[in-house]
Amino acid sequence: MIEKTLVLIKPDAFAKGFVGNIISIYENSGLSFEKAKIVLPSKALLEMHYKAHKGKPFFNSLLDFMSSGKIMALVVSGDSAVQRVRNINGATNPDDAEEGTIRKLYGTSIEKNAVHGSEDPPAAKEEIALWFE
Ligand code: ATP
Ligand code: MG
Repeated sequence: MIEKTLVLIKPDAFAKGFVGNIISIYENSGLSFEKAKIVLPSKALLEMHYKAHKGKPFFNSLLDFMSSGKIMALVVSGDSAVQRVRNINGATNPDDAEEGTIRKLYGTSIEKNAVHGSEDPPAAKEEIALWFE
């Protein structure tokens, strides 16, 4: 099934100059790009994006981090794009991520883990609307 998903290149990876490398990894895996933009997100946008994590101990720190610098937001499409992006991104904690995944290559902590990929197709639909509409 052709799907769309939201990818965010987070402030850690953006500031270190890994945007091009990261985009190449998705592109080389056969995924396509539908939309892209550079954003300095507001706390309000991030609260909506991370609403599932509201109340967790890392929530405030996560919002501070995600609003600390530029992010590249991308709508990525392809066959099973939601799960493929999550596989390419790797485990949430870069220490647990497999070799060759973006988080293994460019993540530095469970928080500063370089990229976001939507959890499932309904979340992808909501997140694409939130970031692009
Ligand atoms: P993402 O949603 O960014 O693709 P994910 O689905 O692997 O990542 P989630 O559980 O949805 O992970 O967590 C969202 C984000 O919150 C993580 O990517 C990470 O930046 C941060 N995060 C998750 N767990 C922790 C934690 N225990 N401590 C600090 N930050 C965390
Ligand atoms: Mg998630």
